[in-house]
Amino acid sequence: MRAAAFTVMGPLLDERFRNRFVLTDSIDRMAGLYNLRTGEVAALLAYRDSTAAAGGRGAGSIRERLRGEFAGLSAAVDRVLEACPEHVYDDVVAQIILPGWQKERTILLGDASGAVSLLAGQGASLATAGAALLGDFLGPVASAEGISPALAGFEERWKPVVEDAQAAGRRAASSFLPRNKAQRLLRRWVIRASRVPGIDRALARRIVGSR
Ligand SMILES: Cc1cc2nc3c(=O)[nH]c(=O)nc-3n(C[C@H](O)[C@H](O)[C@H](O)COP(=O)(O)OP(=O)(O)OC[C@H]3O[C@@H](n4cnc5c(N)ncnc54)[C@H](O)[C@@H]3O)c2cc1C
Repeated sequence: MRAAAFTVMGPLLDERFRNRFVLTDSIDRMAGLYNLRTGEVAALLAYRDSTAAAGGRGAGSIRERLRGEFAGLSAAVDRVLEACPEHVYDDVVAQIILPGWQKERTILLGDASGAVSLLAGQGASLATAGAALLGDFLGPVASAEGISPALAGFEERWKPVVEDAQAAGRRAASSFLPRNKAQRLLRRWVIRASRVPGIDRALARRIVGSR
């Protein structure tokens, strides 16, 4: 999958979109649109790169590619893509999985050690909470010799939490971007079921991980 994100100026979306995050119910591509307080419209576009199987993404600009991938999805998406800036964020949806994060007195943190990808929807929270926890481990250290064991203690405590979120992100992949009508139908049922008390909590645990 790839994901692109950008904001455009102007009242491109009508009142139906105000204070809402609207997602398309589509196969192999998904557009999410929402109004910002500034009057801008934010767009998050996720898609399976149709040119990847052919061995490359061609010579066109990112904007042209996005217009090609998303053309005709809805009138609102077409309007936002019409105003899409030339340079936008566009990258593969990927996770970072490393056997270990630490080497002597150096450690990797946040996305560098364990990016969960936007499918997990909690990369910023994990990066911030991980940094705070690292501070707790390093705070009491009084000598240079204490740094390496403190880093090892942090990794031992925090890596399972990140790995749990990564597994949840991988599980979310097919419902985030259904491949066919059957997966799309399943997603509709899951969204409906999320209104039922009890099922909502079980679903939340499955989406964000159990830790
Ligand atoms: C499209 C998209 C949507 C997302 N949505 C969400 C979401 O809804 N919720 C959520 O929690 N997370 C989300 N994430 C994930 C979240 O953005 C990341 O997990 C989070 O930003 C990771 O924080 P970080 O501090 O580890 O890395 P970063 O935020 O990437 O910070 C690293 C910083 O280091 C700087 N840097 C890089 N190299 C150097 C260098 N050599 N010298 C100096 N500085 C350097 C970079 O410029 C950057 O500022 C999303 C990610 C994407 C791509």
